[in-house]
Amino acid sequence: MSCLFCQIIEGSIPSTAVYQDEQCYAFADIHPQAPVHILIVPRVHIASLAQTGHADAAMLGHLMVVAAEIARDKELDAGYRVVANTGSDGGQTVGHLHLHLLGGRGLAWPPG
Ligand code: AMP
Ligand code: ZN
Repeated sequence: MSCLFCQIIEGSIPSTAVYQDEQCYAFADIHPQAPVHILIVPRVHIASLAQTGHADAAMLGHLMVVAAEIARDKELDAGYRVVANTGSDGGQTVGHLHLHLLGGRGLAWPPG
């Protein structure tokens, strides 16, 4: 299996787990861009948000709610950002849909 995040999900590549359930796996980003930087990925392989449709709405909603739950657990009471980099212009480097949860510092806007 060539997909990096599928290998992380199945455990053949190590990761630091933050949360998991039947639909998704959340783990620490290996190159954190903020004090809290967690990736939330669906267990099903979908390349990016661009490949999703209404059939994926429940899964996508679940990922967002999990992001909010992790943010509460991490006590990101001052706020945080949830990002889905999509495609080359979006800065996506791993071809398995994922949400970034970033927090623990003030985040600039607009992004670069
Ligand atoms: P993106 O650039 O939006 O596709 O995000 C991919 C993210 O995966 C980056 O923030 C990387 O730091 C992160 N990443 C790459 N390899 C690993 C790994 N083995 N474990 C955890 N995070 C990783
Ligand atoms: Zn995958």
